Amino acid sequence: MPFKEKSECSFTTCESIFPFGKKDNILRFAKIIENSFEGITLLNKDLQIIYRTNSAERISGWADSDLLLHEIDRLIHPSDRSWLVIFLAELRNTPGQSKICCFRLKHKNGNFIWVECVFTNSLNEPEIAAIVCNFRDITARKNAESASALALQDRNMILESIDDAFFILDTSWQVKYWNKTAEKLLGTPRNAILNQNFWDVFSSDLLPKSHFWYHEAFKSNQAVKFEEYYSAFEKWFDINAYPSEGGLSVLFKDITERKIFDAKLNDLNENLNERAKELALANAELEQFAYVASHDLQEPLRMVTSFLCQLEKKYADRIDQKGKQYIYFAVDGARRMRQIILNLLEFSRVGRTEDNLEEVDMKKLVNEIRLLFHRQMKELKAVVTVADMPTIVSYKTPVRQVIQNLVSNCLKYHSPGIAPRIKIKSTTISAGYRFAISDNGIGIEPENFEKIFSIFQRLHQFDELPGTGMGLAITKKIVENLGGKIWVESKVGKGTTFYFTVINHNK
Ligand code: ADP
Repeated sequence: MPFKEKSECSFTTCESIFPFGKKDNILRFAKIIENSFEGITLLNKDLQIIYRTNSAERISGWADSDLLLHEIDRLIHPSDRSWLVIFLAELRNTPGQSKICCFRLKHKNGNFIWVECVFTNSLNEPEIAAIVCNFRDITARKNAESASALALQDRNMILESIDDAFFILDTSWQVKYWNKTAEKLLGTPRNAILNQNFWDVFSSDLLPKSHFWYHEAFKSNQAVKFEEYYSAFEKWFDINAYPSEGGLSVLFKDITERKIFDAKLNDLNENLNERAKELALANAELEQFAYVASHDLQEPLRMVTSFLCQLEKKYADRIDQKGKQYIYFAVDGARRMRQIILNLLEFSRVGRTEDNLEEVDMKKLVNEIRLLFHRQMKELKAVVTVADMPTIVSYKTPVRQVIQNLVSNCLKYHSPGIAPRIKIKSTTISAGYRFAISDNGIGIEPENFEKIFSIFQRLHQFDELPGTGMGLAITKKIVENLGGKIWVESKVGKGTTFYFTVINHNK
């Protein structure tokens, strides 16, 4: 059926409101309707278009002349066609009824636009005798809706995939979002809590900190972070709450394992501190004992030695060779014992003497030590090279003792038949200096690197190379007492390097 001529359409109006002539009013209304923002289309009982306003033409882009009846169906989006046919068929059978729907309509430019239509069945009204369709373009709204639906979908996908639990409360504490992890951690399904008041489900008595901090976040409009123990689940949570105009977003995670670990670590630390105190006490007692014992042992030992000497001197004519040899062994033993006692005394004294901090010119100090070993060095044709010696602020006597002990060992443990080459150098480190004293001596097996720093630990028989096994123990104690560290690197047959660090109190 062809479209009706627009002029054929009839309008009536209330003359009391519009006090113009009837014809004027009709024209006025016609103009208003033709140019209104909304489009109007009239359909006959066969659902064929019998009239379209100019605005309908403007919205769809199609002029009346463009539209061929058999093509009209094709203007409806394929996905909307079937339900729209049923929708309109139902409407046609219920005179006087109005129904609203949205569907996609093909614009003349080839794109589909979204239209919202109010269909009114006025077939039985003699003056209209049509199904009236008031429609408007809602494409922009639909696009915005689907964009925000997409954004929401994205957001939800992220919130559902994160390991942290997450929920949103509105300003009246109603739960507006509750993710999967929140369901799991708080044992509360989403359906059971959505749109409920949070505090009706989780009493403030059970979560007093949350209650306080959520209110605080709202009041101050500042994010808050806290930890709370949830006794009902025997769980610790780390909670972050972010306030916004719409409410509060809460992100939380289960930190129970970390808390248990922390508590264990704390206990362990306390135990360790306790043990360290006990050890320090035991150590102090031992040192006191070593000091007293070595001090007191010297006197009787001196007596043993001197009486043995008297014996040898006074009864020389009556003691045979064997007897003299026994006396010699006894005196020698006593001498070695004296040395051990002296070393023990020295060991127990480390840290007891009250030295003053002073500027120590390390180059000068090393030269003094060189002089000390002058005779021995000459005999062995030893060469000492010294490089990069700084001036440090430290305790001179113990620092000298360390270098002296190490240089003494370099000379003592030289490779037979090879002139000792001793190098002393220093490197700056953050807290002070690291010194290295190396030699080309007999070297040390790696398995003995630790052992040699313990008291009485020797790698040689006394007859082979004399010593008490106390030198490095004393050296280590001095270095540690000065706040440093000592260690060794060595290759058997190639040589040894002792490293030690010293704090420079100037820094
Ligand atoms: P002592 O020299 O009285 O034996 P030390 O404590 O000074 O005691 O040394 C412990 C052991 O470490 C020595 O017996 C020796 O075997 C080894 N040692 C120390 N310094 C060196 C060195 N420069 N080269 C090779 N071995 C060394």
